[in-house]
Amino acid sequence: MPTTPSPTLIEKIAEKLRLIPNLHGDLGSEVPRLTEPGKLTDYPPPEKWDDWVEYEAKSWPRRHAKHYMVVPTSCFNCEAGCGLLSYIDKSTMQVRKFEGNPYHPGSRGRNCAKGPATINQINDTDRILYPQKRAGKRGDGQWERVLWDAVLDDIAGRIRKALQEQRHNEVVYHVGRPGHEGYIDRILQSWGVDGHNSHTNICSAGARFGYAIWQMYDRPSPDHANANFILLISAHLESGHYFNPHAQRIIEGMMNGAKLAVMDPRLSNTASMADYWMPTYPGSEAAVLLAIAKVIIDEGLYNRAYLCDWVNWQQYLQHERPNDEVTFDNFILALKAEYKEYTPEFAEKESGVPAKTIVEVARQIGRAGTRFATHNWRSAGSGNLGGWAVARCLHFLNVLTGSVGTVGGTSPSAWSKFKPTVPHKPPAQKFWNELHFPNEYPLAHYEMSFLLPHFLKEGRGKLDTYFTRVFNPVWTFPDGFSWIEALSDESKVGLHAALTPTWNETAYFADYVLPMGHASERHDIISYETHSGLWIAFRQPVLREARRKMGKPVQFTYESNPGEVWEEDEFWIELSWRIDPDGSLGIKKHFISPYRPGEKITIDEYYQYIFERTPGLPEKAAEHKMTPLDYMRKFGAFEVEQTSYNKHLRQIAAADLQNAETDQQTGLIKKAGKNIGVMINGVGCEGFPTPSRKQEFFSPTMIEWGWPEYKIPTYIKSHIHPDTLDRSKGEFPLVPTFRLPTLIHSRSGNAKWLYEISNRNPIWMHTSDAKDLDIQSGDLLRVTTDIGYFVDRVWVTEGIKPGVVACSHHLGRWRRPQDAPGNRWATSLVEVKAVNSHQSSVISDNRPRTSDFGQKWHMKTLDSIRPYKSKDPDSSRIFWSDGGVPQNITFPVHPDPISGMHCWHQKVRIEKAHAEDHYGDVSVDTQKSFEIYREWLKMTRPAPGPNGLRRPLWLNRPLRPVEEMFFC
Ligand code: SF4
Repeated sequence: MPTTPSPTLIEKIAEKLRLIPNLHGDLGSEVPRLTEPGKLTDYPPPEKWDDWVEYEAKSWPRRHAKHYMVVPTSCFNCEAGCGLLSYIDKSTMQVRKFEGNPYHPGSRGRNCAKGPATINQINDTDRILYPQKRAGKRGDGQWERVLWDAVLDDIAGRIRKALQEQRHNEVVYHVGRPGHEGYIDRILQSWGVDGHNSHTNICSAGARFGYAIWQMYDRPSPDHANANFILLISAHLESGHYFNPHAQRIIEGMMNGAKLAVMDPRLSNTASMADYWMPTYPGSEAAVLLAIAKVIIDEGLYNRAYLCDWVNWQQYLQHERPNDEVTFDNFILALKAEYKEYTPEFAEKESGVPAKTIVEVARQIGRAGTRFATHNWRSAGSGNLGGWAVARCLHFLNVLTGSVGTVGGTSPSAWSKFKPTVPHKPPAQKFWNELHFPNEYPLAHYEMSFLLPHFLKEGRGKLDTYFTRVFNPVWTFPDGFSWIEALSDESKVGLHAALTPTWNETAYFADYVLPMGHASERHDIISYETHSGLWIAFRQPVLREARRKMGKPVQFTYESNPGEVWEEDEFWIELSWRIDPDGSLGIKKHFISPYRPGEKITIDEYYQYIFERTPGLPEKAAEHKMTPLDYMRKFGAFEVEQTSYNKHLRQIAAADLQNAETDQQTGLIKKAGKNIGVMINGVGCEGFPTPSRKQEFFSPTMIEWGWPEYKIPTYIKSHIHPDTLDRSKGEFPLVPTFRLPTLIHSRSGNAKWLYEISNRNPIWMHTSDAKDLDIQSGDLLRVTTDIGYFVDRVWVTEGIKPGVVACSHHLGRWRRPQDAPGNRWATSLVEVKAVNSHQSSVISDNRPRTSDFGQKWHMKTLDSIRPYKSKDPDSSRIFWSDGGVPQNITFPVHPDPISGMHCWHQKVRIEKAHAEDHYGDVSVDTQKSFEIYREWLKMTRPAPGPNGLRRPLWLNRPLRPVEEMFFC
């Protein structure tokens, strides 16, 4: 394929005269495009990207040629980070559209609907263009424009003071959708703060813990394309975590003959494509998985060699069956005994899935052997008390079939994730923030983020400077009114800076609202486990890059973005520099250019440094006569490894084996008091980063930390198990977690194309239940949770399991009359009232008090979505009025006592709406939500653990502090 660039004549002359840098390099070497040839994959060839000509559709039938510069970047509308190509109109310097990037190894030129909708987000007429400072009381909705300089000085001064006064734990960065491989960790550790908080415990922490307790790695990376059997505990093909990259590979696998089974109480698009739809009762998935395991064990379908080499069965027998000889056959006998109660019939009773189907699926999995790909992300793992056990039991099937790390199997995610080498890496912090990792949750896999309002109310700490970034807990998290109460209280949150491109329900309660760029308006690097392989992609501000290529470079990204929209990367560098202007706090040295001694690092230098140290990239770039940075600017992505199988078999270097000791029974290799690997058939292998260096079927950790009943993979009954429901009172389990493939939590309200497709979230109810309750599609229902209720319409369907109701979590965005208009494609206008025994006031007039730990809140829809006038003529063409109902705000927190995951599923009472009810009504008592928080807190078994530890040393911890901080 020819890849010679075609610079314009002026560019050629300018380059020759060295008036501008050589912008085009030599694109003569071939870079493989990662899509199959065909008309639907006809992307512009890269040699034409600097001047791509298309006819203007709006000029039809006139042939009006438009000249574009094509610049790659990466989508930010889910974690997958698919490649995008932006088409920049050279005459206006406006992005006209986004399409897929065929050079991106994860997405291979394809996108879901959300990728191209990035154009809606950058053209959103309601977006925030300038930094804003609150002008009235917090939450009043009054703002004034301020200068970036003033913002930086103010925030830097606060942080400097906090650090000088040793109040490091009062400086916190709370992120929703993270990006930036290691970037923010580097910032926080340069400040020396234990200040990272996340959204993970309302998202994936349950499943992560289930994987981590086996192998420390906390996510799966299925090799769908090469599998013979695929089992999904979610709607992964349709709307799962790596929606487009996984979907295309699942389809590839199926086209090659793979069978697909889906466990989901809802007939998702994915389930409708499956060979086996297994509509499990929510929370019963682990019972079904253990029944499958039992069939595999009883029928001898397990992978004997893998189990024998890679499972810590010797440790299990030594500990649990001290009278048995330590032989593999005795282990198999023990397994049969351990799981004898998990018959397919038992699983049918728990789940409702016929025993016959369970046996058939089990045999298919057994036959697939090492080509068995699985995934469980949020879904059951995030819905149920003990939901982490679902991932643990699912991975048990991969272990039994020896499909861990194999072609067509399921690898640990970390094997497919690139870790960049960053300049001036700061040391780990010497603080432990108990607002994030309290002693009650020593095994919590991520920060207990959704309990923050309750911790603040209890007086466990306070925040001096609180950054929220792509994070909207008031709307996304459970118990949003408790968030409003906490954020409104200046004695608990000193300063709240919301870093966001658009207004949202949390930003309304900020002191600063700082506009940050969308996907195509900022820098970032991305690397995710989309398949077996290892890649790195570059998210870059495309207008900045276009200007650079046209010889008009800018110093800061906000100079090329609309208004003064900035980007986090540069913001953090500037802020850090101002926190420590004279270097006395030891911060400044981490922000010095690695290329220009003593000078401030630029964002280009930061990425230059990383790309120069990305294995294989400098060589690849050199083939094109480019620098590594220019290669990434040009192609947007680089494949570091084509596959990433069997990394546990990596051999330990002979030098490292010297003076090491090997346990004769388990094969564990120890050196200098550390477990460094495992001896397999005379070869020293790295193994897995667990204490045994093997897959831990048997978990001494669970015993040591007070949970001996969960020492091996086990089924844990959910808090919404049928035993806990009273059907005669209209009680149902509500599944509130399912995704719509076209929406993105808080971040799609500014995307008109996406809301045109999906704009309501009715309650799904099975026809048989509707008949029993005399309910018809469209009826208004009152759905009562433990702390309040919401009023929504019902959709009667065969696509949900009888006895279960479900509601998508994406909709129900709101704004109040006093708020700046934002996301008007998606937000209803609401009145929010706080009422308690002391006061009854509209929130804009009188601040709510939190001294009594809660009050009653009501939300009422004042106006629905309607057309409005703006620069975008489509805003006057809005034809939908329904924006859905915010269900999450009526949920109390349900922290799982082990994984720390919020257990999303709710026991609800369903009844027809009352005479006074209206669509969208919400009522919540935050006093009750505080009480429920305390009830769940009682289930914990707090630290310290062995040796006074706050948390097992071998388990991962985000923003890991120095080891001494792990001890109480
Ligand atoms: S799957 Fe869709 S939303 Fe996610 S990164 Fe890819 S294109 Fe964007």
